[in-house]
Amino acid sequence: MPVLQIDDMVVHYGRITALHGISLSVGAGELVTLLGANGAGKSTTMRGISGLNRLTSGDIRFNGESIANLAPHERVSRGIIQVPEGRRIFPGMTVLENLDMGCYGRKFPSKADYRSSLDHVFDLFPRLGERKSQYGGTMSGGEQQMLAIGRALMARPTLLLLDEPSMGLAPMVIQQIFRIISQINSEGTTILLVEQNAQQALSRSDRGYILETGTITKDGPGKDLLVDDAVREAYLGVA
Ligand code: ATP
Repeated sequence: MPVLQIDDMVVHYGRITALHGISLSVGAGELVTLLGANGAGKSTTMRGISGLNRLTSGDIRFNGESIANLAPHERVSRGIIQVPEGRRIFPGMTVLENLDMGCYGRKFPSKADYRSSLDHVFDLFPRLGERKSQYGGTMSGGEQQMLAIGRALMARPTLLLLDEPSMGLAPMVIQQIFRIISQINSEGTTILLVEQNAQQALSRSDRGYILETGTITKDGPGKDLLVDDAVREAYLGVA
């Protein structure tokens, strides 16, 4: 049974149909990419999964159970944790306080539990450990992305939703972020990744879906999509 199964999800913004009935699945332990241009509906899909957008029709199942009518916080408590587009860290809080916010929904983690989550985040992102007392708003874009991912990991996600983590970052930092995404996945966390950076995302993904104006037009193993002529032309700038 897949961890996440979306069937025929339709989402509207007023009269605008943003998603025309998309279906996709993410299996346990998989890293799956949803690739699409600006405005294709990637963030709308993520917000549908996390409960921030209401579905007009269709269903979302998590470990077999329909979650389409659950409130966002109920989905969080089941382990669906989103890193939103644009990171949305708390600029006036320190790095440590930001990370603590990630535990907010967890039911009274013990001190040892908390400490091991924090150590894990600092192992993945040593920079965050060095900057514990720095205000989030004074960190660089790449550091803020690391902080946003770290904060999500503090909630011990079963399914991690990453919305364009490479956006606006320098190529070296993008490499680093993608390496860490692969590492988090290889440690057992199931990931749905939304990206425009096709090369990096598909080469690291088990499978990918191509989203075009609210419809999934293609899917397959990441490595197959990378060599698909239409995908290369549209997303890799190769004619
Ligand atoms: P981007 O990479 O630019 O964020 P995206 O693939 O995430 O793009 P969405 O943000 O999901 O795309 O938007 C999908 C469509 O829905 C677009 O046509 C967009 O203009 C529209 N849309 C998104 N949010 C709203 C809103 N709050 N009200 C009306 N239309 C919206």
